[in-house]
Amino acid sequence: MKLLKQVIEDQGVVLSDGVLKVDAFLNHGIDPELMSEIGREFAARFEEAGITKILTIESSGIAPSLMTALELKCPLVFARKQKSLTMQDNLYSADVYSFTKEKYQTISVSKDKLTKTDNVLIIDDFLANGQAALGLASIVQDAGASIAGVGIVIEKSFQPGRTLLTGAGLRVESLARIASLSENKVTFVKNEEA
Ligand code: 5GP
Repeated sequence: MKLLKQVIEDQGVVLSDGVLKVDAFLNHGIDPELMSEIGREFAARFEEAGITKILTIESSGIAPSLMTALELKCPLVFARKQKSLTMQDNLYSADVYSFTKEKYQTISVSKDKLTKTDNVLIIDDFLANGQAALGLASIVQDAGASIAGVGIVIEKSFQPGRTLLTGAGLRVESLARIASLSENKVTFVKNEEA
C-alpha cells in the first residue's frame, strides 16, 4: 500500500535492526486518514471472503480494525491483555509471548463474543514472530469459528511470523512488507503490488 509505505518512510523511526517505532501514526498518535485508507485496503482484499467478525488485540490493533469493520459492515472484537472486573470468567484465553514487552501475556475474549458460525478476519498492527496472531487464531479455533485470514498493517518479512502463519494454513495479507531495518533504514520487500 503506497501511502502506508510513504508514511513509514517519512515518520517511522528505526530503533534497531529488529524494531520499528511508529508512534507518530499507529502506536501512540493515530492518523485517522491513514487508518481510513487502511480500512479500505483490508476491506478490498477480503471483500469476497464472507467476513462476519474482525478480531484484534488491544491496543494498537483497534484503530485499523475499526476502520476495516466499518468498511466490511461487521462487528469488531478486541482481545484484552488484562482481566477486568467486568470480564472474569467464561473466557477464551491464550498465552502469547509479547515481542515488545519480552514476556508472556494472557489474552482473553469473552465466550459470548465469538460463535461457531463466525468467519473471522484477524488483524494486527505488526507481524514479527507471529505469536500474537497465532494466539488470536487459537482463540477463534477454541470458539469453533473459521479463520478467513490475517490482515497485518506492517510485516517485518525478515522475522519468522509470515512463514509460521502460512505454514499453519492461514492466508496472510500485509499492507507493507519490510525486508530489512538494518543500517538504520527501512527497506521494503521488492517486486510486490503492496
Ligand atoms: P509477534 O507476536 O508477531 O511476534 O509481534 C507482533 C506484536 O508485537 C504486535 O502486536 C506489535 O504490538 C508488536 N511488535 C512487533 N514488532 C514490532 C515493531 O517493530 N514495532 C512495534 N512498534 N511493535 C512491534
